[in-house]
Amino acid sequence: MSSIPPTRPFAELHVHLRGTISHAVAMSLAQRYGVTSSDIATNKEFTFGGFDDFLHKYHLVGELVRGAQDYALVCHSYLARVARSNTRYVELMVSPDHALDAGVTYAELLRALEPAIRDCEAKYGIACRLIVTAVRHRGPEAAEALARLVVATASTLVVGFGMCGNERVNTPSAFRSAFSLARQGGLKTTCHVGELCDAAHIREALDVLQVDRLGHAIRSVGDDGLLREIASRKIVVEVCPTSNVRLGLVASFNVHPVFQMLAAGVKVSVNTDDPAFMATTMEDEFANLRAAGMTEEFVAECVGNGWLGAFDPAAAKAAQSRLPPP
Ligand SMILES: [Zn+2]
Repeated sequence: MSSIPPTRPFAELHVHLRGTISHAVAMSLAQRYGVTSSDIATNKEFTFGGFDDFLHKYHLVGELVRGAQDYALVCHSYLARVARSNTRYVELMVSPDHALDAGVTYAELLRALEPAIRDCEAKYGIACRLIVTAVRHRGPEAAEALARLVVATASTLVVGFGMCGNERVNTPSAFRSAFSLARQGGLKTTCHVGELCDAAHIREALDVLQVDRLGHAIRSVGDDGLLREIASRKIVVEVCPTSNVRLGLVASFNVHPVFQMLAAGVKVSVNTDDPAFMATTMEDEFANLRAAGMTEEFVAECVGNGWLGAFDPAAAKAAQSRLPPP
């Protein structure tokens, strides 16, 4: 009997490629490069205590990805794995700045990822598109240079431009020109905002960066005017409940802001963020939300918003009806 729950298929909008590196893949890379760090993982899973320790471990594992072939391995392994669940469409965030740290250019990164993505779509029916993310703490100039590069480089798989990184460094409005370039270049935009910092940053992302979606934005709760604005603009928000709870940003699923966001009419989508590190899946996310009291009506709405918010609606529509591989 299948373990897949009888639900609609999932579209996931917020997942970082570096956060998909499974324990097994991390160990194989560590072996390849002669890295023997018990810091990386113990007991076949990643463990961490709080946000700073998470960033430390995340960095250690990310540093194991050293060549274009490693990016292809990580991407293929993740898509093959997630395709066996009920996820049919994924928007994967990639950071060319981190790749370049490892000596992999943006062109090489795309040449590595594109065959992996095409192969998984052909073999497993899962569609994957890419969101190129700038790193906030690397500053506005780096983000602008990245936006120019992405717009100048043709790729049918790259559909969006986003930003992750340390929210405490640089306000969103400092990145106005990077986001403007991306938008004018035909890319959709999203931004990590309001995960740690307050509602003022969320307003900047909406009004100055003019993003199409918001990443996290859980700090919108408590500002009723902002919640109304997000709802009335029909902005899809990428909420990552397990990530918030495991990083200690939210005390428990029971008190997660997602419930107030939904009650305010916000178009919430549910996502795994860094599934390997958070030891979560889309099925787990919804199981935890149901256990915390989410109604089936809201579950269906969140699942639907994942599809609604897709930056490549045609690819999403085509993938939605495909069945998982046997
Ligand atoms: Zn994220």
